[in-house]
Amino acid sequence: MKVKDIGEFGLIDRITKRSKDKKILVGIGDDAAIYGTEKDFQVLTTDCLVEGDHFRRDWFNSTQIGMKAIEINVSDIAAMGALPKYILVSMALPKDLDVEFVDGLYEGMWKTCDKYGIEIIGGNMTHSEKILISITLTGEVDNKNLCLRSGAKPGDYILVSGHLGNGRAGLRLFQKGIKGFEKVRKYYLEPNAQLKTALKISPFINSMIDVSDGLAPEISHICKQSKCGAMIYKDKIPISEEVRTVATKLGDNEFDYALFGGEDFELVYTVSKENIDKVNGFLVGEIIKNKKISLFFNGEEKAIEEKGYDHFSRGI
Ligand SMILES: [Mg+2]
Repeated sequence: MKVKDIGEFGLIDRITKRSKDKKILVGIGDDAAIYGTEKDFQVLTTDCLVEGDHFRRDWFNSTQIGMKAIEINVSDIAAMGALPKYILVSMALPKDLDVEFVDGLYEGMWKTCDKYGIEIIGGNMTHSEKILISITLTGEVDNKNLCLRSGAKPGDYILVSGHLGNGRAGLRLFQKGIKGFEKVRKYYLEPNAQLKTALKISPFINSMIDVSDGLAPEISHICKQSKCGAMIYKDKIPISEEVRTVATKLGDNEFDYALFGGEDFELVYTVSKENIDKVNGFLVGEIIKNKKISLFFNGEEKAIEEKGYDHFSRGI
């Protein structure tokens, strides 16, 4: 059996084991790990960008790659309701890479770190044929603001923080070599973690995850860990006019971008009916007791197939 046969989620399932250390509150399986004591929670996440898989040097400049490397990690910390703090950067770089390129990477990383009040406090460098940037980010969270994937309850509303489908639409424009649609392209090249929103809503919501793989797989992760199901209202999924135009132009379906695309880095969260007035966002569905996930459209319910962005079966 090869890694590609079971994909990213299958592989994660194989290595997920219950940890025995009592200080580990959340191990593998959420956006970030949580350890410490009830009085002092620490949050820890890691994510990497690989040349040819997550970025291409003819699409991104080095500053944008540096910015994106930080944003995607901040997005995971934000999804826990936590505040990002310190970073370790590991890089593998080709020996003949221009030093100016590395300067650009750091310029982008520092710029994004300054935006969030994060400090780079260490790392490691080695060489390889392709560029690889791996970020480890710590965070801090107050006990009462902690948001796990496992907290959703039947009857909760499902909300998203912003428009979806931009990440995939942007990628498709680059893949097809289509010019124009600057807003969508910029969204893909320079995504923004929704930290402000996360910190604002975290005291009032039951569960949260960020959209790195698409709305359907993210909701599926919440449902799996919360032992429940979901009904998604297809016509309520927020998709911008520009993304719809891109999809039409390329002969794609804009709902596929939103549901199974990825790299939107918006937040998906569930909130009780009592707290719904305390949060903003787009209501896209409801958590249900029955453990299936369906898409509701035109008076019909359809089961959703799982086909989010899988890092071992698809690249750019
Ligand atoms: Mg995540």
